[in-house]
Amino acid sequence: AKTEGGNQSIIFDHSMSKSVENHFLIERELRQAVHSGQLKLFLQSQVNNAGVIVGAEALVRWQHPERGFISPTAFIHIAEESDLIIEIGRWVLTEACRLLTCEGLAGRSIVLSVNISPKQFRQPRFAASIKHLLAETGADPTHLKLEVTENLLIHNMNDVIAKMIELAALGIRFSLDDFGTGYSSLAYLKRLPIQELKIDRSFVQDVTINPDDATLVESILAVAKHMKLQVVAEGVETEEQASFLNARGDVIHQGYLFSKPELAADWLKRLAQ
Ligand code: C2E
Ligand code: CA
Ligand code: CA
Ligand code: CA
Repeated sequence: AKTEGGNQSIIFDHSMSKSVENHFLIERELRQAVHSGQLKLFLQSQVNNAGVIVGAEALVRWQHPERGFISPTAFIHIAEESDLIIEIGRWVLTEACRLLTCEGLAGRSIVLSVNISPKQFRQPRFAASIKHLLAETGADPTHLKLEVTENLLIHNMNDVIAKMIELAALGIRFSLDDFGTGYSSLAYLKRLPIQELKIDRSFVQDVTINPDDATLVESILAVAKHMKLQVVAEGVETEEQASFLNARGDVIHQGYLFSKPELAADWLKRLAQ
């Protein structure tokens, strides 16, 4: 499109520079946000097929003074291009560990799942900082689950696995997030110290109407069963999707059908009821 004529080229360049500018603006604002307490922790329940809450996923939100709550899809990718993702990730982990020890959660067998970005996981001091955090907060490591994506496994898989094993030895669990959407083969699965596969929302969405999605989900359930892995289905919005999944396996549900992500304090209140 750039060679197609003066006008278009100008528009292209203009919008590009604008978006680069915008990118840096957002990054600068986000950096301030992290340091001035504008990040908020949301939790979304994970429910077993008996309707019991067995866990929750920690999802970060940016509470912007003018624009309200901003979804992580709007800023995580920007944070990932700088070291901000490491700070944000550390903040989320700290909040999750603190929650685990608070009245209402301590002593219950509810597991909190935290998203770990590849850059964060690859920090040389990642394992040490988690150990430190567990010691500092007194959180039970067996109630902490780290969600990693297949993208983490593309480079230096041996180092990644060694670090996962080190953390798993503490009792920390691992979940493979957005399973099936990344670039990787199934071969690595048997080498990973993981307990769980998460089926991405994009597969769950049309599972009852699209035969390809149905087949994909059935394949994931078969792999999980064979490898004795727990399955969490993301984005379950309808009774039909839930029944489809329940008819085919032992699946934990996470989706609007059961509850939306909510402020951690609100989630705790509901849990106590
Ligand atoms: P994800 O890990 O795949 O998280 C699931 C996303 O699906 C969440 O979006 C959740 O709100 C949404 N979701 C769950 N159930 C439903 C449903 O029934 N319907 C619909 N339409 N959506 C549903 P969210 O909170 O906007 O987070 C988006 C992504 O941002 C996450 O995708 C994750 O990759 C990333 N993210 C969120 N928090 C963190 C964090 O603390 N650290 C890192 N590194 N990434 C994070
Ligand atoms: Ca996740
Ligand atoms: Ca996911
Ligand atoms: Ca997903």
